[in-house]
Amino acid sequence: MINPLPTGATIGILGGGQLGRMLSVAASRLGLRTHIYEPGQNSPAADVAHAVTTAAYDDVEALTAFARAVDLVTYEFENIPTEALDIIEAITPIHPNRRALGTSQDRLVEKNYLQEIGLQVAPFADITDAASLETALVTIGTPAILKTRRFGYDGKGQSRLNTPADATTALTDMAGAPAVLEGFVNFSVEISIIAARNPQGEIACYDPGENVHRNGILHTTTVPAKIPARLRTDAVLLAAKILNTLDYVGVMGVELFVTPQGLIVNEIAPRVHNSGHWTQNGCAVDQFEQHIRAIAGWPLGDGTRHSDVVMENLIGDDMDQVPTLAKEPSCAIHLYGKVETKPGRKMGHVNRIKT
Ligand code: AMP
Repeated sequence: MINPLPTGATIGILGGGQLGRMLSVAASRLGLRTHIYEPGQNSPAADVAHAVTTAAYDDVEALTAFARAVDLVTYEFENIPTEALDIIEAITPIHPNRRALGTSQDRLVEKNYLQEIGLQVAPFADITDAASLETALVTIGTPAILKTRRFGYDGKGQSRLNTPADATTALTDMAGAPAVLEGFVNFSVEISIIAARNPQGEIACYDPGENVHRNGILHTTTVPAKIPARLRTDAVLLAAKILNTLDYVGVMGVELFVTPQGLIVNEIAPRVHNSGHWTQNGCAVDQFEQHIRAIAGWPLGDGTRHSDVVMENLIGDDMDQVPTLAKEPSCAIHLYGKVETKPGRKMGHVNRIKT
């Protein structure tokens, strides 16, 4: 039997962005405290947390003190240096576990893993140089996408090859970083499923949402996704398989392509996910509370959707729309308190309730 975290316990969160902010708010609603670890000043999460450490991820002293001050550690982004995790894990548990994080940090490891557990992924190949790219293009063909194995997000670190002649430019775009070549998937829509698992092995999934991207950044998520019931079930089953095989604890976002051959897994994110923000106004227990419940050893919320919702991200100058949005009926505004507006920067989102 796992003892749930008691009221007043402190959850350490690596990363002080908007996801950390919304996790902190959810934790506080459950009577728990959060301690944010973030190298940057004025982070969105720092505004709403009980404690903040402003230090680099290679600051051994600060990491040690942080790990000692909390009851367990979670994270809001994937690219945490291994050495930092080693220091923390020697002192306090990390959820989701290191295997889940390691798998999602590297596209090649992730794809091999997904294939091993019987899920469909785009055709892929490990690319280390011009010769391996040339060989891979023979089997995978074009169009294709070359992606860095690590540190890619919001479409960054990617180069599209429309013909084999694009190989040199694509390789230059990788700037020497190890990469994978992916065959282009002709999908009808992109969906994602947000799923949670607690230490007792219970799993709860939210309804899959349909995602639309603009300039490589998520623009809207609409629930319910317009997909047949069969695919909705497939999405739930494959997410559960990923969580169980990783012995996962927490919330995960799984991005999927819908194709005539069924669902193809694009990538997994071992954390709360932008495409799950709709749950804040569509479900009794949202993804942030669900993550806190899971890592704190609480029973999971059931994930039932009580409303149809369209989530829209507010990027950069979209912030100018806030006064108008504030007058719109059935429109919940979530702003991240970021001091500086920049093009392409996620500043907030709205959830429009449709029923
Ligand atoms: P990613 O960073 O891997 O999530 O890719 C960002 C976006 O690029 C995805 O949401 C898709 O719209 C598109 N994309 C990525 N990989 C592929 C692929 N193999 N085939 C078609 N589109 C893709």
